[in-house]
Order: sequence, then structure tokens, then C-alpha cells
Amino acid sequence: MLQRFRKIIPLLVVLVVAQWPASSGQTPDDANALLLQDARLIVGDGSVVERGSILITGGLIAAVGEVAADALPENTRIIKLQGKTVMPALIDAHAHLGYEGHSGWGSRYYSRENLIDHLQRYAYYGFAAVFSAGSDPEDLVLALQRSQRRREFEGARLLFAAGMAPPGQGPNNQFLSHAIALAEQTGMTILRGLETPPQARQMVKEVAAKKIPFIKIWVDDRGGSQQKLDPELYRAVIDEATENDIKVFVHQQFAEDMPDLLEAGVSGFLHGRIGDGFSEAIARQSKQADAFIIPNLGLAELRREAIGEDEFLRASIADAVAERLTGISSQRQSNPLRNTDAEAELQRGFARLLNAEVDIVLGTDAGALPDHFFGYSGHRELEIFVRLGMTPMQALMAGTSKPARALGLHDMGLIEPGMSADLLVLDANPLDNIRNTRTIARVYLRGNEVDRNAILEQLVRRYDSQ
Ligand SMILES: [Zn+2]
Repeated sequence: MLQRFRKIIPLLVVLVVAQWPASSGQTPDDANALLLQDARLIVGDGSVVERGSILITGGLIAAVGEVAADALPENTRIIKLQGKTVMPALIDAHAHLGYEGHSGWGSRYYSRENLIDHLQRYAYYGFAAVFSAGSDPEDLVLALQRSQRRREFEGARLLFAAGMAPPGQGPNNQFLSHAIALAEQTGMTILRGLETPPQARQMVKEVAAKKIPFIKIWVDDRGGSQQKLDPELYRAVIDEATENDIKVFVHQQFAEDMPDLLEAGVSGFLHGRIGDGFSEAIARQSKQADAFIIPNLGLAELRREAIGEDEFLRASIADAVAERLTGISSQRQSNPLRNTDAEAELQRGFARLLNAEVDIVLGTDAGALPDHFFGYSGHRELEIFVRLGMTPMQALMAGTSKPARALGLHDMGLIEPGMSADLLVLDANPLDNIRNTRTIARVYLRGNEVDRNAILEQLVRRYDSQ
């Protein structure tokens, strides 16, 4: 790996110097060159550079590996990182932004300001991007994305999907009523009801006209509480979406729907249920179809745990919220005993995914329920991946390059020249212990260091004002 970088560097440095001549004077802040020097680099593709540097210019990674001092652009700022580990910033491929209000949860908290708060929480926890899965007022989020591209605020990059389901359906019942209320509140579309194949195609064309590159469909009947999405309808959606270069992601609770959905051409599963129903044959079919699976395990597990006792979370939430989530003041357990049968079943399902080399992707469903926290839950999900049989390296890939690929983020998830400089600097090596992703020293998004302290102050102030 190091060899490959050595070859790449001289050419790239020349390009960089040509692009930003020292005489250009008032270059934008992010055009100034920055060298992150002498750290362990976890590239994101499974390789490690034990000691290397990263040259950043214009918000992009310009060179990686050994960068000679005389090859640096003039006025390059150098940050010495001996003993530290640098990895690509994380990506959460399944969340629901906007509804979590910290002192409460629901449509009344949803606002542009609250979305920015959530994106900043993600940035604080070392995330470069987050995918909000089918629960957002489209026009509001499209406007926020434009604002983010103009760099009007700092935070993780926001992606979202248009939601589609049988008419009047979609997320679970509590969430559904809030999504419907929010659609009324804003007068904007959140969920589209699917009735007939031609009408379903028309819905997809509407989404394509708005240039939304993702559709989320809800397929299963939620244990009989909702109507199942007819295969004729999801086939029409997926077919029309493929025509329009839109990826379709699925919410499905049971493995039995997966073979037909894969055959229809879905890009991935947002709740890959990996119990015993998830057979070796489905794993192989997923791999062949190049569909990713988000196991989404922390959603069930963390709700039973006394997470208010965890300092890593506690730093970013109000004391009153933390206390509500401790073992003393709730039903949550400080040391939850895992049901060993369920754990063994999960491990078997996880092994089938790993053996078939299916792309396992980090996704948390954070924000879908009260107290399922942005950013924090992502680090916990990686721990669960390792507990169930991944190596730390595999887990880190599941949190970086794999979600980048799943979401079509071609400039993210790897420490390579040309990539957006979205980086996480850690005090300790997560390859030794996956929990070391918590030892965040610095976060860079698009080459700019995230002011984590300022974000934290602002988040805590917001709690006090509520
Ligand atoms: Zn969800």
C-alpha cells in the first residue's frame, strides 16, 4: 500500500501547487494547504499505513503517504500527529433527523434549526455524512442541502430519501402519526402512497424531477398492523427508479421478502434482520445482487441499557436526560444480560453475511425513537459488529467506505487522493479495540477542523433554553 502511495505523491503535489499558486493572496480559508503529519492511517479499504501523512488542499486530500517537506505548497500548516491514528470520518446510512427535540420527540420539534443541530451532533461524534430515511419534508431538506453546499453551516453532510408506502402508511405507528402531522404542518410531501403500478411510476418521476437520488419503500406489514406493499407496486417503483438512476432502499422486517426484493433490483436493506430466517441462500443472493445490508442492531439493544452512565454520551446531553437514562432512574440496566439464545442466533446470521462477503453497512435508525442518539449510537453499533464476529478493521470499513459506496458518495469513506478531507483523528488505535473510535482528538470535514468544543457548548445551551 505504501509503495502505491509513494508513486502517486510527486504528481499530485505538482498538481496542487499549480492549482493554488502562492501569489494568489486571498485564497479562501479551506484552500490553504494542511499537512497531517506522521500518523497511523487507516485507509478505509482494509489497509493501514503505519506511519504516513496526509496533504489537504482546497478541502480535498491531495496526497497520502510520505510527503517530502520541499514538495509542500507554500504556507502549508503542519499538524504533527505522532502516535495518533487517522481514519475516514464515519457515515451513518440510516437515521431519521429532525424529530428528536432532546426534551421531547415529535413533529413539533422538526425545523431547519433542529436539523442543523442534529448534523452538528454527528460532526461532533466524527461523522461526515448521514442518511435520513424517508421521513423528511422534501422541499425543506432540499433547501437545507443547498444551504449546506454553500457552506452556510458546519455539520455532517445530509442525504435523504423520498418515502413511499401503501397509502396512509410508512413508519411505525407513533412515527407515522408525527410524519403525517409534519406534512400537514409544512404543506410539504414526506410520504407518497402507492396505489397502482402506473401511479407508482408517476410518483417516481416526481421524485426524479426533484433530483432526489434515493427512495425508501416500506414493504412489510409490521406484524400484521399495516398493509403489506404489493410486489407489483414495488417492482414498478424499482423499475422506474432504475430508469431514473435512483437507488431504492427497503424497510423490511422479515427475511422472507428479501429474495423477491433482490430479484426486483433493490440497492439495499435498511433493517437486515439477520436471525435464523436469514439463510445462506439469501446471503449469497444479496452478494450476487450487490445489495448492502444494514443490520441495525443497536436500536433494540441500547433501549435496554443504562446509557446515561456512559460518559461518551453524557458529554453531549443534558444532565436531566442522562439521569433519565441511568439504571437508577429507569428500567434500563447498567450491565444488561444478553439473552444468550438471541445472541447466538444473531451471531449465526452475522456469520452468514460475513461468509458471503455481503456489504455490511453502518446504520443506526437514530432519531426514529426518543433517546436513540445521533452519532453516539453509531460508535455503539460498531462495537456490536465486533462483538458479533467482525474484526475491528471490518467494522471500520462498515462505518466508512461501505456506506460511502452504498450511498454513492464517491468522494467519501477513504483516505485517498481526490477524496473529500473528512477525517477522524483518534488518540488510540481502534484496530486494537473498536471502542477507541471514542478517543476523538480532532474531526476534519472538507479539510476544516470541526470546532467540537463550540458545538458542544451550543448543544448544551440549547438544552438549557428548552
Ligand atoms: Zn428507520
